Amino acid sequence: TFDTRELQRLDSAHYLHPFTDHAALRARGARVIVRGDGIYLWDSEGKRIIDGMAGLWCVNVGYGRASIADAVHAQLLQLPFYNSFFNTTNVPALRLAALLAELSPGAAFQHVFFTGSGSEANDTVLRMVRRYWQLAGQPQRDILIGRRNGYHGSTVAAASLGGMAGMHAQGGLPIPGIHHIGQPSYAEGGRGMSEAAFGLAAAGWLEDKILELGPERVAAFIGEPVQGAGGVIIPPATYWPEIRRICDKYGILLVSDEVICGFGRLGRWFGCELMGFQPDLIAFAKGVTSGYVPLGGVLVGARVAQLLAEQGGEFQHGFTYSGHPAACAAALENIRILRAEGLVERVAQETGPYLKACFAALATHPLVGHAETCGLAAALTLVRGKGAGVHDCAPFAPQQAVGMLCRKHMFENGIIMRAVGERMIVAPPLSITTAQIDEMAERIRACLDLTLDEVTA
Ligand code: PLP
Repeated sequence: TFDTRELQRLDSAHYLHPFTDHAALRARGARVIVRGDGIYLWDSEGKRIIDGMAGLWCVNVGYGRASIADAVHAQLLQLPFYNSFFNTTNVPALRLAALLAELSPGAAFQHVFFTGSGSEANDTVLRMVRRYWQLAGQPQRDILIGRRNGYHGSTVAAASLGGMAGMHAQGGLPIPGIHHIGQPSYAEGGRGMSEAAFGLAAAGWLEDKILELGPERVAAFIGEPVQGAGGVIIPPATYWPEIRRICDKYGILLVSDEVICGFGRLGRWFGCELMGFQPDLIAFAKGVTSGYVPLGGVLVGARVAQLLAEQGGEFQHGFTYSGHPAACAAALENIRILRAEGLVERVAQETGPYLKACFAALATHPLVGHAETCGLAAALTLVRGKGAGVHDCAPFAPQQAVGMLCRKHMFENGIIMRAVGERMIVAPPLSITTAQIDEMAERIRACLDLTLDEVTA
């Protein structure tokens, strides 16, 4: 048993939380999570909660996998740490590198650079891209282009590549040499257009930006196949192939940030496979170990690897925990589970379509304007007045904070969802069953009712 009051006192006295409003936290006290099993969590009061967010979009195989704990335990006893600097390596790291090369889209990414997190993966992307263009004899190509509302992490370079206005405002970001274009949100920008036409138009913003900056100065474009933290923004099918075409036209590198989409979230091993494009670099983290221990990295395609690995000499970049043996052992076992249980295929064939149907049913709720799903990532948009299409709904005023209100009801009623403005997000563990999706949807409906009562009171 846990003394919740005492734990909350310690938390409030000493713990500076990431992405948390501390005033709200002091008023309510932190919820202390103490255990997990499958899709469920338990707090220090013994309350069971459905984890609709798989932690932070990462616990793909679900909680409580003893075999991952065993693999890490065995590796810690065998060799708890060794690095891969200065001509050394370790067995789990090199085995994982080979396995990731095999699993990569078209097996076209034969090299891997390991990091400790997704943010470090994207910092690595920035340095790797600039190093590539130096080696290619075009050092003036040093500009990277990201997207408004994109999220690539919290380190200085990753937060700059991302397009979160609040993060930029607090840190004097972005750093020089990083520019942004709009996000391919049909609901936001596609009024009066078909989805297909909007996808091409949104990709065209990249070409506009390249021409504005000068193509000879642009090094790379980075984006998430489906934007996660931005609110599960699913681009039209025309978007990514057109982005690839534009990058090719100007010789620009294309980077897919697969930190959320990778390792099965969208029903493919990598999101770019679903979205129909082949990037030059892939950033990954989260689902590679299902978050059991921290690990990230960059998958490197032939174009960059040829210069960097074969002719580049020393790339002066690396982390103490690059290729950490215990993290790599966790990843190897995690990937074995994903394969053995066919979890990626299940998302494509069973749980993803099932979630789509459940969310389509939730979209009939008076508070829900529309529902979008892609694999096991989904969003409900809360609206003041429903309309026939996504552009015909009356939105809530942002200051009403209806999304946060809904999230509070969810939290109090045993389900974790994320609120991005008025978009209510789920991204559960890939191990979720259809019966558990029903349970989750029922609970969401009940919380929508509670929110509606409060909004209309
Ligand atoms: N990239 C994307 C798409 C993410 O969603 C995240 C985290 O949510 C990151 C990068 C940063 O990863 P990390 O928090 O492991 O540094």
